[in-house]
Amino acid sequence: MAMRRITEAPGIGKKAAEDLSSLGVTTLHDMISLRPRAYDDRRQERRIRNASIEDPSISCRITVLSHSEFSSKARRTLKVMAVDDDGTRIEILCFNRYFLKQQLMTGTSWYIYGKAMRNHGVYQISSFEIKRTREEAGIGRILPVYPLTGSLTEKTMRRAAEYALLSLSPIPDELPASMYERENLMHHDEAYRRLHFPRTMEEAKKALSTLAFTELFLMELSVLRERPEGNRKKSSMTGRERKLLENLPFTLTEDQIKAAAEIREDMDSPAPMQRLLQGDVGSGKTLVAWLTALHAIDKGKQVAFMAPTELLARQHADGAAALLSPLGINIAFITGSVKGESRKLLLKSLKEGTTDLIIGTHALFSEDVSFKNLGYAIIDEQHRFGVQQREALMRKGKNADILSMTATPIPRSLALTIFADYSVSVLRTMPKGRIPVKTYLVNEERRSEMYKSVGVEFQRNHQAYFVYPRIDDEGEGDLRDVTTMYEFLKEKYPGVPSALIHSRLPDDEKMRILHDFKEKKIRYLVATSVIEVGIDIPDATCIIIEHAERFGLAALHQLRGRVGRSTLASYCFLVYGKGLTDEAKARLKVMKETNDGFQIAEKDLQIRGPGEMTGDRQSGFLHLRFASLTSDLDLVERARKEAERIIKEDRGLLEAENAVLRREMLEHKALIQPRQI
Ligand code: ADP
Ligand code: MG
Repeated sequence: MAMRRITEAPGIGKKAAEDLSSLGVTTLHDMISLRPRAYDDRRQERRIRNASIEDPSISCRITVLSHSEFSSKARRTLKVMAVDDDGTRIEILCFNRYFLKQQLMTGTSWYIYGKAMRNHGVYQISSFEIKRTREEAGIGRILPVYPLTGSLTEKTMRRAAEYALLSLSPIPDELPASMYERENLMHHDEAYRRLHFPRTMEEAKKALSTLAFTELFLMELSVLRERPEGNRKKSSMTGRERKLLENLPFTLTEDQIKAAAEIREDMDSPAPMQRLLQGDVGSGKTLVAWLTALHAIDKGKQVAFMAPTELLARQHADGAAALLSPLGINIAFITGSVKGESRKLLLKSLKEGTTDLIIGTHALFSEDVSFKNLGYAIIDEQHRFGVQQREALMRKGKNADILSMTATPIPRSLALTIFADYSVSVLRTMPKGRIPVKTYLVNEERRSEMYKSVGVEFQRNHQAYFVYPRIDDEGEGDLRDVTTMYEFLKEKYPGVPSALIHSRLPDDEKMRILHDFKEKKIRYLVATSVIEVGIDIPDATCIIIEHAERFGLAALHQLRGRVGRSTLASYCFLVYGKGLTDEAKARLKVMKETNDGFQIAEKDLQIRGPGEMTGDRQSGFLHLRFASLTSDLDLVERARKEAERIIKEDRGLLEAENAVLRREMLEHKALIQPRQI
């Protein structure tokens, strides 16, 4: 489509063009793609006496009765008395519009549109438009309200939109013919016209959902086309994988079995895997990682497992050693603190291929780390790593399969867009015998009751976490901190061994504490949110989170996930202070009502909106003009289904009906492809 510039529209001079370009509008096509932020429904004539505080709008004919004026601050202001067809009087206050005196002559009739107020029994209006005819006043119509900036006015914008629609008409369809009926969409010419000038609010809605659908569909389609074609075959477990399962004291959940099978299939087909393993906290992702690592090793590959903190890496290395060493797997552990001769040896055996599996932190992608044949990279808590870090690891292998694991449940709508170029496996079912964590909201009055309940757990030989938002008293006196509370709790629970843990401790000290906690030499930890990610202590049955209102839903869910990791009943106490905001109240309520991470994520999305929830890194590139990831969940799914159907039936877009898509893909590819994250 030839790009016709917005400057050809009437009323768009240099200044207006600059302002428009800051709204992203430089061409006529941009103009018709600019979504009105609201609509002004002037269909109903509204007489003056209908104006109320809730809805002050009026739009009706008036007749001028008389003029007067009043002065303030050396300025004369015109006041026009008028009456509508009901005979209701109104005072029109013409601030800065003294010139209206020439027009609003006594006895003439006008159409007025604006917001009226009743003051001491007299209706007044000061924010209004006044027109000679009904049409000019827009009465009987629904008018678009655009985002404005600089010198732009609604009037300029409406004229520009009208001009653009007229000049580009007929606007060609952007989707294959059969899709319109199937998906109940407007044809595009109509959709653009009704987006700007709908005759009913339903029309506006349908126009918007058509354009939102189109946008999502084209994005999904372009992503799916990039994805390598699968000629997949079922693949089976190796002997050692079976052996691992036999050695386990429990059986895998169905979702674990399914996820492992999906990964195995990916591994055994030629294209490199790019898969996201999503599973709520405690759903058993790590085991899926070890099982599939065995598969890769048995196919002659080396495996790297990367964790975001030294603490977690250590825990995983211990776990792997217990499960995999007996099967003859050579495991290495690397962090920044592995240095000197032992590092040299480690790097040598990795390079020569004697090491099958290496577990570590960021240290894994240091310059000096190289593999003989890295074929499988597993990234735990993937959202904690940046793009560059992951790419650095990727460069160490050739076409390595990648498994990104995350406990941050991503609502399906977001997963389908943000991770559009990933395959997704989900662990939804929890291992058998888990009892949902019971959550209590605790205010000051119930604090001592809470301490008592935790004491009972200690008598049962169970363990606990106490979490506070800060390390020590940094002047903000009203916040509890770990250092003070550590002393306080010592007195509360005399004889119960405890430890203080926070980010300022050296790593080996943290490691020692966790080790002792696992061995039950320590019965409770007084911690900052360092314990948020991944820590797995089955006998910990209580978590107390103070100032819970300060934590986001995702963090609260992660923290709560530290308990309820065995068949023991467990408890989460969310202690909150005074003066909760509505949002904080909503968050705590969600936590009390559900344990399901996916539901929590959906709620989080509703409370906060998608941008904040996924962080800048994951949402900044989603320049969606029409679709909203909060409210258009069903559109996302439908768009995905249609895109999958097209890929299946006509991947090359060779059929006549799909020619329009071939063109779209060529023209807009750069625009609609989500960036890899
Ligand atoms: P996450 O998915 O949060 O990373 P983990 O992988 O740490 O969870 O697993 C949580 C706990 O559940 C671990 O102690 C693990 O051994 C145990 N687990 C994993 N799978 C099962 C299963 N199928 N049945 C019982 N327990 C399991
Ligand atoms: Mg984990």
